[in-house]
Amino acid sequence: MRKFKPRRHLGQAMRVGLAAWMLGGFAGWGRAADPYAFNGSRAFSFIERLVDFGPRPAGSKALAETRQWIVGQLQQSGWTVERDAFTADTPIGPLPMVNLIAKLPGVSRKVIMVAGHYDTKRFTKFRFVGANDGGSSAAFLLELARILPRQKHRFTYWLVFFDGEEAILHWTATDSLYGSRHLVARLTSDGKLGRIQAMILVDMVAGNHLVIHRDADSTAWLNKLVFHVADRLGYQRYFRNTPTAVDDDHVPFVDAGVSAIDLIGLDYGPDSPPFGSYWHTAQDTVQHCSPASLTIVGRVVLATLEDLNHSPHLPP
Ligand SMILES: [Zn+2]
Repeated sequence: MRKFKPRRHLGQAMRVGLAAWMLGGFAGWGRAADPYAFNGSRAFSFIERLVDFGPRPAGSKALAETRQWIVGQLQQSGWTVERDAFTADTPIGPLPMVNLIAKLPGVSRKVIMVAGHYDTKRFTKFRFVGANDGGSSAAFLLELARILPRQKHRFTYWLVFFDGEEAILHWTATDSLYGSRHLVARLTSDGKLGRIQAMILVDMVAGNHLVIHRDADSTAWLNKLVFHVADRLGYQRYFRNTPTAVDDDHVPFVDAGVSAIDLIGLDYGPDSPPFGSYWHTAQDTVQHCSPASLTIVGRVVLATLEDLNHSPHLPP
């Protein structure tokens, strides 16, 4: 990840504490079952499993093994998995990359996509396992994959695991976002891009200091919807209406006319943003991630998906 476009001071992050865990994990306590129940602890255990594969840069053996494990998990949850393989032209030569697209048919063929990346940034001077940056997005999608088949849904769901989100060397327009740029190009040439009604991108959603700012590049109506949902669930502390702009896998989709939103926890670590002091360091470990953060984002995404079933922006 990803160049921070306008540099802004984002303010002190709030620590996610026990109270948030109670709020996020047990909101349905004493009532009917929580309709947005998301098991942050299980998603966290998926991060631990992903980190066990070691550093997982694009083109590596570890990422191939990770991919095989992810496919197995998705199939166990009842999804059909398509491998979108391609060769990326990178500053260190051609690299094989594979996006994974897990599909669950709905009443409508129109698609709601929830996406994240599963590669980790390549570093040679230290061991980078990307618990939050690369691990959390993939783990989040795997937990969502267990939940969505049990829910009534109007739209077809795609869970997309992007390869090659990270720059191979230094972030530029051509050295970054390999998987998302490839998928937009392929869906455009296949005439299928128009099936996607909305894209929800998650990235770095497990940090101990969870703060998600409103991304200025994301589509306005989706920002409004998601932040309204977060308000309704009592998560104003974590979803803040302060604008930022970040290059991430949603941008190729937005540029191609798809409605998309990026939910990214930039305030990762005790120091000030952008990105916090653990971002792209050896400190991006499970010790600095929290099940509570995953639960909060999970509940917001599940409630958003429910709202999308009857959004005026998505006519039948
Ligand atoms: Zn990154």
